[in-house]
Amino acid sequence: MIKVNGREVLDPMKNKWVSQKVEKLKPSPIRKVFNKVAQLKSQGIEVIDFSIGRPFFDTPSTIKEETKRALDKGMVHYTGSTGILELRNAIVQRILIDKGVKYNPDEIIVTIGGTEGMFVAIQTLLSPGDEIIVPDPMYVYYKGWINYAGAECIPLPLKEEDFSLDIEELNKKINSSTKMILLNSPHNPTGSVLSRQNLEEIAKLSKKYDLFILSDEIYQRITYDNCEALSIASFPQMKERTVISDSFSKTYAMDGWRIGYLAAPREIINQIAKLHQHIISCSNTFAQIGAITALNQSQQCVEDIIAEFTRRRELMINYLREMKLPFVTPKGAFYVFPSIKEFSISSEEFANYLLEEARVAVVPGNAFGNSGEGYIRISFSPPYKEIESGLQRMEKAIRKLKKIKLIYDYLSKTKV
Ligand code: PLP
Repeated sequence: MIKVNGREVLDPMKNKWVSQKVEKLKPSPIRKVFNKVAQLKSQGIEVIDFSIGRPFFDTPSTIKEETKRALDKGMVHYTGSTGILELRNAIVQRILIDKGVKYNPDEIIVTIGGTEGMFVAIQTLLSPGDEIIVPDPMYVYYKGWINYAGAECIPLPLKEEDFSLDIEELNKKINSSTKMILLNSPHNPTGSVLSRQNLEEIAKLSKKYDLFILSDEIYQRITYDNCEALSIASFPQMKERTVISDSFSKTYAMDGWRIGYLAAPREIINQIAKLHQHIISCSNTFAQIGAITALNQSQQCVEDIIAEFTRRRELMINYLREMKLPFVTPKGAFYVFPSIKEFSISSEEFANYLLEEARVAVVPGNAFGNSGEGYIRISFSPPYKEIESGLQRMEKAIRKLKKIKLIYDYLSKTKV
């Protein structure tokens, strides 16, 4: 974009053929870290990558085997656009168990992961001028998806002490343009989980002001210390004003399979289905077979993944405590979001310093919105041994940074 007479217009030299809508989309800042890591690795430099937002496990073999059989049987053609009925039935059963809400298979769309699901839901529900309130920090793509619909993303800063949602602040953000609230619990990047009380209060407000909820529940089953992540759709009269987005990416280590789903009341899902059909026709057929296997088999594989995440989380939080980096213990997902405010540098500078000095990659908190400034996101998904050596390297680099800061503070004081 360039400015002409104070107005932002397309740069005619650079972007002659590109629509304004797409030009305004920003690439994910996480991809920026990913590219830097790839560049270092290509130079033979070993980097420990804590910026990863995927499970560091293989997809369970039962799922892979059944999918291979589906390919051999010739399941290589289109399915109905909302997905194979057997899969939608299995999703209905799973939602009933995990979220306590009863859907019909015609209230489900099988999507290309949470990404496509959230995108089509947002484009279907929001119009230019509408406002949607989103807890800040927030997942990197939310704002871009909302702005693409022409709507306004209204950030709601989470409480610093525990990253919980402040109901009074939420209430203050609601006005006549507010149409929706976006929830993401367990939360990326902080690992916080919305409490029952919080959800009850949000439900009350959404009914009082007639607001719709988009609930991103991609990490719902990954929680710790007996914490339960509830779905807002399970609260009285909330199913009819909620669309749930969920995915196989995290729970079954199927992020590369690109498969997920939306659940919403029939009249809403029918509208979303039109856009979904225009964009993708249908989800990948043999990946849908894998997803059926994932849901219908014993769920021991999920328990195993969560048990291993629990072990890695323990290691991470013990180290962070030793490093004396302030953090809120994550109750869900596989990220921790420590504060680096004491160093008086930006989260981007801090992340760059860790990459240079310790060869450890983390995501700067500002990638997740203004409220993320002063924090870094560390994923505890990598293998145990890698977490251990990455944290040792981080600890050394942070000790060095603390010393530099002490000297700097001393020098600036003596100058005065
Ligand atoms: N929502 C959140 C909060 C996420 O963290 C992610 C991925 O990291 C997604 C949605 C999209 O995931 P996928 O498209 O792989 O299902």
